Amino acid sequence: MKVYFLGTGTSQGIPVIGSNHPVCLSTDLKDKRLRVSIWIHWENHSYVIDCGPDFRQQMLVSNCQKVDGILYTHEHADHTAGLDDIRPFNFRQGDIPIYAHQRVIDNLKLRFDYIFKTENRYPGAPSVLPIEVVNNHPFPIGNKTAIPVNVMHGNLPVFGYRIDDFAYLTDVKTVHKSEINKLKNLKVLVVNALREEPHDTHFNLEEALDFITLIKPEKAYLTHISHIMGFHEEVQKRLPENVYLAYDNLEITL
Ligand SMILES: [Zn+2]
Repeated sequence: MKVYFLGTGTSQGIPVIGSNHPVCLSTDLKDKRLRVSIWIHWENHSYVIDCGPDFRQQMLVSNCQKVDGILYTHEHADHTAGLDDIRPFNFRQGDIPIYAHQRVIDNLKLRFDYIFKTENRYPGAPSVLPIEVVNNHPFPIGNKTAIPVNVMHGNLPVFGYRIDDFAYLTDVKTVHKSEINKLKNLKVLVVNALREEPHDTHFNLEEALDFITLIKPEKAYLTHISHIMGFHEEVQKRLPENVYLAYDNLEITL
């Protein structure tokens, strides 16, 4: 299984529009971060987690040819705003399954009413097959199983996903003890780390590192990164062994 980091930036992306912050002005490609998303593929199976405003560009850069389904973490725009751009996949594949909490499906119906319309649909509108994700109910994706992990983004419940010995958790601030059991014996954990300063709804760097120490994956990658975190090259040097700052277009093999 391969995991391709389509985007590793926080909600505004890096560089931030109009910003003169040194990280936003950096010429290091590892300091340029689209909105968070990953592409997971193995054999002839291909799934993405989240579908933010950079989805089209991410599909072009990664050369993703097929999407068997989109797993959503939550409804915030940086994770959902790209849904209109699944059309090229619809034209080749038909309806695209989307896996999400019922609250997120209901929210997508408000954000993208024309996609969910059953009558007088605009020809060529995107078409999706919504599949409700319920905590503690693993579901099949291709010939693998996705295990939902319920975590808290401030007061908002958000889903992370475990697939084999890989887990992806973004927009996390707190994790209940009952969910920790789902994260044992991981080869790779991806978890959000916004910046060094604390934040109300995201792990900062220290909280992310404490969480990694608790979970003990073989390797951990940090994502959903703000420009305030600093230059990729400098931050990476300060991280413990086997903890890496993810960057756009990094692909790892499990
Ligand atoms: Zn986010």
